[in-house]
Amino acid sequence: MMSAEIFSSLNEALAERFGAGTEVTRRTGVSGGDINRAWMLELSNGSKVFMKENSSRNIGFFIAEEEGLRALKELCGDELRVPEVYALVGDGRSSFLLMEPIEEGCRTAASSEALGRGLARMHLADAHRFAGGGQFGFLHDNYIGAGIQINTPKASWIEFYAECRLRPQFERAASWFEREERMAFDAFLGRLDRYLEEPGKPSLLHGDLWAGNYMIDRSGTPWLIDPAAYVGHAEADLAMTELFGGFDGRFYDAYRETAGIDAGYPARRELYHLYHLLNHLNLFGGTYLRSVKAILEKYLQ
Ligand code: ADP
Repeated sequence: MMSAEIFSSLNEALAERFGAGTEVTRRTGVSGGDINRAWMLELSNGSKVFMKENSSRNIGFFIAEEEGLRALKELCGDELRVPEVYALVGDGRSSFLLMEPIEEGCRTAASSEALGRGLARMHLADAHRFAGGGQFGFLHDNYIGAGIQINTPKASWIEFYAECRLRPQFERAASWFEREERMAFDAFLGRLDRYLEEPGKPSLLHGDLWAGNYMIDRSGTPWLIDPAAYVGHAEADLAMTELFGGFDGRFYDAYRETAGIDAGYPARRELYHLYHLLNHLNLFGGTYLRSVKAILEKYLQ
């Protein structure tokens, strides 16, 4: 799969996409991002563009985000949308990601259902071409928030989840744990197949699906933004929606009606939370230690 071209100036990118001489006539700051600065641009041809900015050396975040958005867009269907990436720019000082703008509207019962059904359909779609040559993984490593996310392809989901998700996060967090806990964690990873199951089929996942990473537009259509995409077990996405809340009963009902939710899922949910909680411990520090330890207490012998 080709990676996107990187333009060396914003004007060059706008000219390529919208025609020579297209300029920014207005830029309005957009708040809400964790990592990047963001703007809505109005252009001389009347179009709008959503733009994220980071430092020049952080262009890798946008290269990874573009690849994730492109993968999700291919499989998301009609009722759940993903913004089209217009261009990547690295001008020596900053990097920019330009994409299709979403005009924010209000959540309705229908939009929650469309989000649940759309996510379920995406999980059901054939994700094989995104798995990097294995069954589980992705085309390249990417990011989970500001943390690196390893996507080395594997044939087994449980091995992938142990080696590419839990182990790297735990190793990064090692200083929070005693030596005995570190040894017990290692042994726990070796018996992860007692607690997790291989999925019926691999699914393309959003990967970081908390409530801040979907939007509802003015027509009530849901959109996915800011992914940490990879091919994995659909339950990992479902569990993330439950970690911090913000998804209602209609979302889960529509998901269940479309793709089903296995009866054993609730018992696995917190092991999927563990990855994100360890990542939060690594990124934001000790406030997440209690939640991590509460889960580990049940599994480390
Ligand atoms: P970050 O990578 O910094 O977390 P996000 O991708 O979450 O940034 O975007 C920051 C905010 O910008 C979001 O919370 C949302 O409100 C808004 N946003 C994201 N994508 C779009 C878009 N395509 N169109 C309009 N607004 C968007």
